[in-house]
Amino acid sequence: MPAGRYAPSPTGRLHVGNLRTALLAWLYARVDNSPFLLRFEDLDEASVRAEHYQTQAHDLAALGLDWDNEPTRQTERLDYYNAIIEQLIRADLTYPCYCSRREVREATQAPNGPWSHGQYPGTCRTLTAAERSAKEDEGRPPSLRLRGADEAIGFTDLRCGYHEGMVDDAVIRRFDGTPAYNLVVMVDDVAQGIDLVVRADDLLDSTPRQLHVAAVLGLEPPAFAHVPLVLAPSGDRLAKRDGAVTLADRQSLGETPADVLGYLASTLGMAEPGEPVTARQLVDRFDPAGLPTDPLTLDSVYLAGDD
Ligand code: GLU
Repeated sequence: MPAGRYAPSPTGRLHVGNLRTALLAWLYARVDNSPFLLRFEDLDEASVRAEHYQTQAHDLAALGLDWDNEPTRQTERLDYYNAIIEQLIRADLTYPCYCSRREVREATQAPNGPWSHGQYPGTCRTLTAAERSAKEDEGRPPSLRLRGADEAIGFTDLRCGYHEGMVDDAVIRRFDGTPAYNLVVMVDDVAQGIDLVVRADDLLDSTPRQLHVAAVLGLEPPAFAHVPLVLAPSGDRLAKRDGAVTLADRQSLGETPADVLGYLASTLGMAEPGEPVTARQLVDRFDPAGLPTDPLTLDSVYLAGDD
């Protein structure tokens, strides 16, 4: 049976932007009576904080955003990802990349040819065997890149419409051996039977890369609905330092989970300002066609808790 999912990285408490995305992902699934899965994307060991598996699950549950099955953790599936990476290596679809972080930054910030800002122009794609062994001798641990599509890949996003982008050579295994996001996210969505990925629209531009991963692995990709981000008053991404942004922060201002959910719903046109709601009530009110298309910029009064 098709399913939806929320896939947070357990690096901190969820803030209201994360919670709004989770609410939408949950609603898209539950309005169809579909299963909803919770998957922890915890491969980036340096930024994971162990207590946040629990705080994130707790905060979702407190809002009534329930899930089916046990939450999964990507760290428990390393053998599976590594087997897929070996398969791509054997099919000669990958190459080692010896670029340092700085070299990648320089190359992706001043791209030329068909590449846009942030895309890797394939510097290490054409290294000869001798050049590779010279780099190995310098002791540089390589990352592994998947050869890109060399053409634009497009898809029709359920919320953003048609979107396409050139697919550069994405890292699928980091230099420390960790399987990388663009690979594992697609592999897991397909393995878990996700038919609709609902996530924040800062990932819209990564989607063609993930569709390319699906194509080379012969996987049927899910559909996508990218939803608007929640921003700080400055227009930057929302962060902890911006004020009362987590459920716990809001509760310490005297709000209940129903108040927080009501606030999130009001920003989506699904509740009156100040109206407390339950997640179940929102299922009946949910109309994907009526969702706002612009990012939500929080105001400082809300973040200070003075509203
Ligand atoms: N783990 C990613 C994040 O927390 C989400 C990835 C996704 O939904 O595809 O931003």
